[in-house]
Amino acid sequence: MNSYEIVIIGAGFAGAATAYHLARRGRADVLLIEQESIPGFHSSGRNAAMMRQCVPDPDLATLTRDGATFLRNLPSDWPEPVGFKQNGSLLLGSGTGWNKLQQDAMVGRSVGIDVVLWTPAQAKQYVPVLNRSEFDGAAWCASDGIIDIHALLSGYLKAATGKGARVRYNTRVREIHVASDRGVEIVTENETIKANVLVNASGAWANVIAEMAGARQLPLRPCRRHLFVSPPTQWVDPNWPFVWDVSHDIYFRPEGEGLLLCACDQTELTPGDAPVDESVKELLAEKIERFMPGLSDISISRGWAGFRTLTPDGRFVIGWDGQVEHFFWVAGLGGHGMTTSSAVGELAADLLLGGAGKKSEPFSPERFVRLG
Ligand SMILES: Cc1cc2nc3c(=O)[nH]c(=O)nc-3n(C[C@H](O)[C@H](O)[C@H](O)COP(=O)(O)OP(=O)(O)OC[C@H]3O[C@@H](n4cnc5c(N)ncnc54)[C@H](O)[C@@H]3O)c2cc1C
Repeated sequence: MNSYEIVIIGAGFAGAATAYHLARRGRADVLLIEQESIPGFHSSGRNAAMMRQCVPDPDLATLTRDGATFLRNLPSDWPEPVGFKQNGSLLLGSGTGWNKLQQDAMVGRSVGIDVVLWTPAQAKQYVPVLNRSEFDGAAWCASDGIIDIHALLSGYLKAATGKGARVRYNTRVREIHVASDRGVEIVTENETIKANVLVNASGAWANVIAEMAGARQLPLRPCRRHLFVSPPTQWVDPNWPFVWDVSHDIYFRPEGEGLLLCACDQTELTPGDAPVDESVKELLAEKIERFMPGLSDISISRGWAGFRTLTPDGRFVIGWDGQVEHFFWVAGLGGHGMTTSSAVGELAADLLLGGAGKKSEPFSPERFVRLG
């Protein structure tokens, strides 16, 4: 039977960044298991690629800040270039949403994120396609931007495997047996693998894996969201920031010579290969008409969907399971798993190696149990 110190289920950002930070700390007796034939087949390869730091929760904001700092200054052991366009971000708010956005900006500034408030006139001058939109104010973050997500994910994996970690694709975990004195046995289609520690980085499947291991179900909701892209469009400026109307839940950003757009739909579904629901295109068209009329002649060439796995308090789940020994969670990364990937992997690696202390408390899986 093959045996490893740490087995990680999932080759998305959660699993890959955890393997990377473990390898950097000299822990390379690590195997990543992925059911698909490539990394990032699910959420990590289907997201909007926006590095966004301004978020409502101060603990989450420290992860977006640290994750973004890492992405802007990749370390010397990084194996390949990762495209990054530092176009900035512009979050728009109206009514109570504007009050909330001002608080979020304050939270961001309190942890050192360079977010400043703009009037609608300033925002419209910077992105003239917003001229016919109505909003009460905007939060501008110049250090945000757009990342090449495939190069980033591949970088984590290449760096980790370069230091000795292994990855096995086309390998689905089917059963998990945990014995407190003997560690974990992970049963796949082809073999049984032994580990001292099992890391659950399985994204939308986190509760499926927990059930296999006999762990409690956590309040994780896998929710589908669609993204759409336009063909090259003459009036699009590739230097625009990503623009997110947080009061009306719609965003867009440059994508090549066209736009990537999202109506921020959120439908809870059973984990799988998230199917596309064509009717979401209509929702997008309605929102454009009402809130971003300057975009109304955009056409859509294709779309896709992926899962954001949400928690009730919006914070991630990073830490040891309270009931089942040897079982560790890196899950519930919601809509911020790419931006925060390095910070998440670093926190997970610290905890796995016995460190991290108070910094990890807000993300503990046990917080849900304490709440009853
Ligand atoms: C539409 C959309 C837009 C988004 N936009 C952004 C954004 O702009 N910025 C940002 O920071 N974040 C964004 N996100 C969020 C981000 O994509 C996620 O938080 C992140 O990718 C989650 O990573 P993960 O590793 O937890 O999950 P995944 O990438 O889904 O990885 C989990 C892996 O586990 C594998 N797995 C599951 N079960 C098994 C099993 N039994 N055996 C073996 N392998 C298994 C799966 O195949 C999968 O590859 C967006 C998400 C979506 C859907």
